[in-house]
Amino acid sequence: MSKQNKQEKQTIWEKSDTNLLESFCADYRSFISRNKTERECVADMTAVLKEQGAKSLADLIESGETLQRGDLVYADMMKKALLIFRIGEKPVTEGMRFLGAHIDSPRMDLKQNPLYENTNLALFETHYYGGIKKYQWVTLPLALHGVIAKKNGEVMNICIGEDPEDPVFGVSDLLIHLAAKQMTKKVSEAVTGENLNVLVGSRPLAGTEEKETVKANILALLAEKYGITEEDFISAEIEVVPAGPARDYGLDRSMIMGYGQDDRVCAYPSFRAILDEGTPQYTCVCLLTDKEEIGSVGATGMHSRFYENTVAELMNVLGCYSELNLRRTLAHTKVLSSDVSAAFDPNYPDVMEKNNAAFFGCGPVFNKYTGSRGKSGSNDANAEYIAWLRACMDDADIRYQTSELGKVDEGGGGTIAYILANLGMEVIDFGVAVLNMHAPWEITSKADIYETYLAYRAFLTRC
Ligand code: MN
Ligand code: MN
Repeated sequence: MSKQNKQEKQTIWEKSDTNLLESFCADYRSFISRNKTERECVADMTAVLKEQGAKSLADLIESGETLQRGDLVYADMMKKALLIFRIGEKPVTEGMRFLGAHIDSPRMDLKQNPLYENTNLALFETHYYGGIKKYQWVTLPLALHGVIAKKNGEVMNICIGEDPEDPVFGVSDLLIHLAAKQMTKKVSEAVTGENLNVLVGSRPLAGTEEKETVKANILALLAEKYGITEEDFISAEIEVVPAGPARDYGLDRSMIMGYGQDDRVCAYPSFRAILDEGTPQYTCVCLLTDKEEIGSVGATGMHSRFYENTVAELMNVLGCYSELNLRRTLAHTKVLSSDVSAAFDPNYPDVMEKNNAAFFGCGPVFNKYTGSRGKSGSNDANAEYIAWLRACMDDADIRYQTSELGKVDEGGGGTIAYILANLGMEVIDFGVAVLNMHAPWEITSKADIYETYLAYRAFLTRC
């Protein structure tokens, strides 16, 4: 065997039950096809929780009812973040087992005054969200997902471009014939943020005196279908995302191509792990947070006090709340920051250091640290905690790998790990390796997705 081959990790395909793996991944593919925004994820998951008899924390606070071991409880934050608890045998002050993932993904958001007409074409102005390579978002079928909140309190859900009968939208790109100048530009400048305008119409409204008849026609359609006016865009959140479902990828169907797999490929297995749990020893938590892609800011991001406040409320329902008990509960909690890592790409081997890279089909990935340069901005997980996790994974026959995001000084990234670590918790990043991360269509390995689900379950039940 050559040195090169020795470095390549063994895949885990042979260890999993193919039927269970395929069935889990089919559920996952359907989930990410249905849910492309944080709001859609929260609504879908809340519906599943209700079906499973989960209790709303807000209802418990109101009714004064208490909780039993094994109960599922949930609380959402502004319909964009979700916290789910599974009550364990032990007092909550002994700490919890915490899976934290994010459900926001890179995309383009409509500006507050989006609609304009230019040369008989109607377009929407956008502002991109998160880290995108702008050139990847042109000439693709795009869909509109989101909400329009009206002054009367009504909130309309919008989803156009997903039904095969729906129209789709897109951002144009320059034809190659006239792109001589564009082709000499740096990739980061070839398509600008301000040029990411979404084409939505070209048919004029008949029989009107107005100047901009194409725009007028779009407004007439919006009024007819949704009862909204142009001013209603001021209080709207409409996300422009790739249109169409996630698909099996590869002749052997071993992979999944889909939008927003960072981080729904960890959010969904985290969610399923807590759903499928019986009564654990330690109370389990699944946090599905928003705004990770823009720095975990805002009321629905990980920096928000939402998490601490909700644990305080839960402890009050359980009859054990005090400020000190809350601090102890948080400090005794063990966390997997369920987020994705970069998969080794044979087209771009130069950015990876193979001894510390993640490979498709080799299981979930531990990132001891992320950050950039000299680990700047990273949560550097403790050796003792990693040893505890090694024992947890080995005892459950889970195969995992360890990696860094790329070569030293090649770039970098971050997750919610360091924010949870601020509460005194043991935290490490642990999730699925992704190819094309942050591209409109991201790729994952089915073997990794299923093994990650099993790993999360092993973690939740580890004593
Ligand atoms: Mn992520
Ligand atoms: Mn990301």
